[in-house]
Amino acid sequence: MRGGTVAVVGGSIAGCAFASAAARAGAERVVVFERTGGRMADRGVGLCVHDERASELAAMGTLPAGIPTHRLTRRRWVVRDGSASPAGKLFWEQPFPFHSYHWGLLWRGLREATPASVVYRQGVTVTSVARDGAGAGGRAELVLSGPADATGDLERHDLVVGADGYRSVVRD
Ligand SMILES: Cc1cc2nc3c(=O)[nH]c(=O)nc-3n(C[C@H](O)[C@H](O)[C@H](O)COP(=O)(O)OP(=O)(O)OC[C@H]3O[C@@H](n4cnc5c(N)ncnc54)[C@H](O)[C@@H]3O)c2cc1C
Repeated sequence: MRGGTVAVVGGSIAGCAFASAAARAGAERVVVFERTGGRMADRGVGLCVHDERASELAAMGTLPAGIPTHRLTRRRWVVRDGSASPAGKLFWEQPFPFHSYHWGLLWRGLREATPASVVYRQGVTVTSVARDGAGAGGRAELVLSGPADATGDLERHDLVVGADGYRSVVRD
């Protein structure tokens, strides 16, 4: 990527990872819009990343070194065996080459590794995304809401990335 401005909607795991990648790849300006105003709360127990993907992300600098992780090698499938034993009966042991990360530590590591050039705007919600202009020169127009100085604001970017989760405004 050479030049161009990028809006990333959502500043969670995918948003921080993509913003870093875009800035390192040469985007001229990267802005992350995250609607959560305060501290990002921990979500879930942990996130598992396949060993090979973890190596790729680390080599690209997207997954910073030093984030505590637990190495997993196998997944055990157990059924009740009718006895009083809580251990049950093992019926399959599956290879499971994954690194398991605590959500909060993973997010913090990704956020801290985001280059300083990335603008991370918290407390700003993107309410809609539309095309502004036709053809190759067309840009994307984002409508924002949030603090009084942001509500109703319009921003135009060359690329919009939806990292805004399962109820994505961008996907709509
Ligand atoms: C209760 C729960 C438990 C989970 N447990 C696990 C687990 O144990 N293991 C696992 O692998 N995964 C788990 N997950 C899934 C985990 O949350 C996701 O894998 C991971 O967080 C996805 O990251 P993401 O960046 O794609 O999306 P999300 O984490 O969903 O982030 C989307 C971000 O976009 C922001 N946003 C949304 N709309 C807008 C908007 N219009 N404008 C601005 N910002 C916006 C949100 O505030 C949010 O920060 C769990 C999820 C939940 C809800």
